[in-house]
Amino acid sequence: MRGAVLYGPRDVRIDERPDPRIIEPTDAVLRLSATCICGSDLWPYRGLNGASEPAPMGHEYCGIVEDVGRAVTSIKRGQFVIGSFAASDNTCPHCRAGYHTSCAHRQWVVGAQAPFLRVPMADGTLVATQELPSSNQVPSFLAVSDVLGTGWFAADAANVKPGATVVVVGDGAVGLLGVLSAKQMGAERIIAMSRHSARQTLAREFGATDIVAERGDDGVARVKELTRGVGADSVLECVGTKESMSQAIRVTRPGGSVSYVGVPHGVELDGAELFYTHVHLHGGPAPVRRYLPELIQLVQNGRINPGKVFDLELPLEQAAEGYRAMDERRVIKTLLRP
Ligand SMILES: [Zn+2]
Ligand SMILES: [Zn+2]
Repeated sequence: MRGAVLYGPRDVRIDERPDPRIIEPTDAVLRLSATCICGSDLWPYRGLNGASEPAPMGHEYCGIVEDVGRAVTSIKRGQFVIGSFAASDNTCPHCRAGYHTSCAHRQWVVGAQAPFLRVPMADGTLVATQELPSSNQVPSFLAVSDVLGTGWFAADAANVKPGATVVVVGDGAVGLLGVLSAKQMGAERIIAMSRHSARQTLAREFGATDIVAERGDDGVARVKELTRGVGADSVLECVGTKESMSQAIRVTRPGGSVSYVGVPHGVELDGAELFYTHVHLHGGPAPVRRYLPELIQLVQNGRINPGKVFDLELPLEQAAEGYRAMDERRVIKTLLRP
């Protein structure tokens, strides 16, 4: 089969790769209906992770079960399934506590920018829809696999409650779906921090009540002004830089909660500053698997349409252009059709 491989900084190619097959009896092989490029793929793409050898790319996926190993019991051939970027057994103590991304048997899923994908621990990792989706539902189911799951965890970890005032730092796909998630959880006021008009429009469509275009000290001052000097109850940090984390902590009210779901790059916290802010911090790689059944239901019922974050759709063969468009921030998120 042909799939996306990163050879070096800004060098993604569609290359011949071995066809995935069942290796462990608990595996499944999927024929992917759609896949996509993640904001986190841009770190290695920009050469910031120091990867040395060619790396198969992609970890967001949904599709039809093509084959299962002999030990797989709940997942069947022909089902439409969604899984997370972290394969998990769904039975160990960490999974049972809801932290599937810390599963004792966790395996990161790689190589999903391809027509076929091997998924380990299929019974634990995958969740099937009740019926096969229509083609216009596929982007929303694909979003559930990571960006919506991560935005939802961001809102949950920031303790968003009905009536809450929420700030979302970051206007990438995860931040935008953090807005949607906070809205679903009953937030009354949602302040999205964004400087890009197309993203501001989508943030409003997803439920943002206010937009703050300023950053740094000015951004903090503007949020304080909007909240009558109090700060927000819940703040979702969806970027992963020192600046965004600092901004998130500084716009939170004493006793409020900050979640952080962007892979951190250079984030350092000042213990004394943290001590005097009284904020709760909770984040990490989102345990998307915990939320899959609920989010699949919301998409199935047409209650949410998270697939709107995909503003570019390309054949998989043109993945390189998809990366370029996201790298240059010309688009929010690229969907690839295998
Ligand atoms: Zn991702
Ligand atoms: Zn586990």
